[in-house]
Amino acid sequence: MKESISPINSTLKDILRAINEEPYGIAFVVDQKGVLCGVVTDGDARRLILSGLGLNDIVTKSHLRQDFIFGKKDDSLPELLKKSNRKVRIIPIIDEDGQPVDYFRYEHRTHFTPIAQPDLENKELEFLLDAYLSTWISSKGEYINRFETEFARYCGANHGLAVSNGTVALHIALVALGIGPGDEVIVPDLTFAATINTVLHAGATPVVVDVEKDFWTIDPECIRKAITPRTKAIIPVHIYGQPCDMDQIMGIANEHGLFVIEDCAEAHGAEFSGRKICSFGHISCFSFFANKIMTTGEGGMCLTSDSELNQKLRILRDHGMNPNRQYWHDVVGFNYRMTNLQAALGCAQLARIQDLIGVRQFVENGYRKIFSKEKKIQWQNDSDPRRKRVTWLVSALFEDRESWMNTFKSKQIEIRPFFYSLTEMPLYQKYAHSFENSREISRKGLCLPTTKDTNLELIAAAFGATGISR
Ligand SMILES: *Cc1c(COP(=O)(O)O)cnc(C)c1O
Repeated sequence: MKESISPINSTLKDILRAINEEPYGIAFVVDQKGVLCGVVTDGDARRLILSGLGLNDIVTKSHLRQDFIFGKKDDSLPELLKKSNRKVRIIPIIDEDGQPVDYFRYEHRTHFTPIAQPDLENKELEFLLDAYLSTWISSKGEYINRFETEFARYCGANHGLAVSNGTVALHIALVALGIGPGDEVIVPDLTFAATINTVLHAGATPVVVDVEKDFWTIDPECIRKAITPRTKAIIPVHIYGQPCDMDQIMGIANEHGLFVIEDCAEAHGAEFSGRKICSFGHISCFSFFANKIMTTGEGGMCLTSDSELNQKLRILRDHGMNPNRQYWHDVVGFNYRMTNLQAALGCAQLARIQDLIGVRQFVENGYRKIFSKEKKIQWQNDSDPRRKRVTWLVSALFEDRESWMNTFKSKQIEIRPFFYSLTEMPLYQKYAHSFENSREISRKGLCLPTTKDTNLELIAAAFGATGISR
């Protein structure tokens, strides 16, 4: 700001220098008392030169436009947005004495707010470079073991198995538990399709059940009703960061001798009854896709506290090869390994996980403030003290969703509708068991931009919210 202030009666050359020093190509001209008396842009300077003013000539008040636009120190953001436009991109802001103290840039208004963006810092680059320079860029290397150990410790599990993505984490979990043709696996109707696809990949039959109206997570009552003699497993999905009712689900599983695979792809760090969500099921699966709470680019992890299952998972991940006899295969396995490069990113992200979670929470609180008077929005439910939710993408149900979607779009704010109810799609219709709540939630739900760069002040201004300071 200082660099762009020029005293009146400077030479044109000095003013051009000031314009040059400042990234947005503008000089604020002040009088002897420091009071703003004009603004000179690149274009204004060009016009002065064309009108015959020399570089060493003095610029006086008569050269300046009298009708320049400015803001006042206590102007609100909407007021500043009103004063600026595509042509007047930068306006000075003056204090009570008329002295320039700041400026406002119009670009902000046309700024596109993306729904998600990986939050990568120096540590990620440092670890990645370290892995790269070690030449261990494939699936062996120190970061793999370290990431598995540290992520398992963070989650309170005994073993971690890093894999190529969250989808194969689910697939390998089903195979390791011996689930295949003839077996039924209960999944929720409101989830990302990877949950049901992996059941089909394993050759088993998905049974799709409804979710709880209030929490959007798989409904234990619906699970009970869907159990048959062929049921082998349940895959509760901690959807949009909300923990499932693990008390009831584990109760049902124990009663009927069923396996539980937790799909934790959207809920890193969430807790139920004081324990990390992933510590309830026989195997828990995470995704580290770029838009998840923490990322390795592509990547996933299986967690288990059962040593035998851990051993099975490791063999399946590595082509089914006998760990004690090279190139001897006892089972048909996969190559589902993660690279050391991805694991390096994972270690760096995990070191910052509290921050990553905190930022998302902060953004959610900001939205709730902005829309606090809005009765048509129903935020995620925090009324169950056992469920300690995390924010993945800020998610809420909107009455009249279509018009909200158009409004957000017109303000350059990227929003996403919720996942479709699985059984609404012809592909999965025949696996439907119950789906009433999931249909309604799916029809009303929207995810809002949730990144550390989400500019809540601008979003507040775009919606004319008051009480959020500039
Ligand atoms: C993202 C996601 C997955 C799959 O993870 P990928 O790493 O993208 O394969 C599975 N289940 C849920 C609920 C997800 O959100």
